[in-house]
Amino acid sequence: MPAPARGEILRAAGEALEDSTERIGRDLAREEGKTLAEAIGETRRAAAILRYFAAQTLEPDGETYPSASRTTFLFSRREAIGPVLAITPWNFPIAIPAWKIAPALAYGNTVVWKPAELVPLTSVHLLEALLAAGLPSGVLNLVLGRGRDIGDVLVTHDGFAALSFTGSHAVGRAIHARAVAAGMKVQLELGGKNPAVVLADADLDMAAEQVARGAFMSAGQKCTATSRVIVEKPVMEAFVERLVARAQSWRVGDALDPDVVVGPLASPEQLDAVLDYLSVADAERATVLAGGRRASELGDGYFVRPTVLTDVRPESPVMCEEIFGPVAVLAAASSPEDALQQANDTPFGLSASIFTQSLERALTFAQRLRAGVVKVNQESAGVEPHVPFGGTKGSSSGSREQGRAAREFYTEWKTVYVDGALHP
Ligand code: NAD
Repeated sequence: MPAPARGEILRAAGEALEDSTERIGRDLAREEGKTLAEAIGETRRAAAILRYFAAQTLEPDGETYPSASRTTFLFSRREAIGPVLAITPWNFPIAIPAWKIAPALAYGNTVVWKPAELVPLTSVHLLEALLAAGLPSGVLNLVLGRGRDIGDVLVTHDGFAALSFTGSHAVGRAIHARAVAAGMKVQLELGGKNPAVVLADADLDMAAEQVARGAFMSAGQKCTATSRVIVEKPVMEAFVERLVARAQSWRVGDALDPDVVVGPLASPEQLDAVLDYLSVADAERATVLAGGRRASELGDGYFVRPTVLTDVRPESPVMCEEIFGPVAVLAAASSPEDALQQANDTPFGLSASIFTQSLERALTFAQRLRAGVVKVNQESAGVEPHVPFGGTKGSSSGSREQGRAAREFYTEWKTVYVDGALHP
């Protein structure tokens, strides 16, 4: 199918999602637990991603080169790599699949997609939108099942040209070598332990609002969530007061209640994992400034109060590992340089925020923070669909996703020499 025709299908599917954001967003909120507003926002984002890659099908797909031979016309173009295996997590159950499937299809590949077992309904909505838009049968293949049961069969299959995986560090690392051994080009997007640095000259109200959003929205279940908050000592007290006020006042509860800001965790396993980290903090005598516990007054739901911790050891698992819950861990910095060192002192490198009113410091941090995404005076989470996305160090492996960077992964160069000499 010619690229522009593929684009038409993606555009129509994007429009169908846009027309159904309420209905799909409601199912997504019920299934995954993020608030209705966030779920509708995510569905809109998936629609925008489909439209973006629809437009990419009209972009140039190669380049011509001068040849040393007078009679040779020399060009190179990006071609589809072949069947792609996409394995996706539950925390963005429609946006992340969209940002893998849309470029894979736009550039002419077929896809086998294994979403996380927690979100089959949302996955079916995306598949249906593409099928209704005219995607031929067999081009996108949805496989539902538990990763530990069916993952191995997929990851070791020699029929795939590439694997695009987003998920936990543990699973990503475990499957990487096997997929490479099966002949796949591999792209991994993994976890983070994302810092927000608040310098002494920051607008503290704005910084507290943005840090709270980064740490607590979607109950902290974002790979780009703010997890460590490094604050210069002179403003620590004033900043903490503002952050704690938000942690204590933001309403926790049913994802479908329009007044709720922080929904539940996605599953009992997720609840247990977060509560385990809170027990470690407790055992290590960390100071709990807000939250620190399950919201049992809300019944059996998987609700954890937005939590602010301090006095946490630098080597504590609470400070070093991805918690994936609504937990912000504070650390004091003696200078901007000390803050930068602490921010970079992690094996991860997905996203990072810097709060300052100094342009010079903003640009210095933007340059020296070791993260794939740096936000100045903005929460660490939230990215736009038309720009490259991905991390450094242990957060990612392989080329970036989204924007024009996606072409790098889903296509490969073919160089063609055409001898135009006339042979009588
Ligand atoms: P997960 O690693 O448990 O699961 C991810 C996917 O892998 C699921 O579809 C799962 O079924 C599958 N899987 C599990 N075991 C497998 C196996 N042995 N073989 C093949 N597939 C297997 O992650 P999760 O809990 O669904 O998602 C949360 C994680 O994802 C967090 O660590 C988060 O940081 C990360 N994440 C990263 C990004 C990013 O872009 N960097 C974005 C969102 C989420």
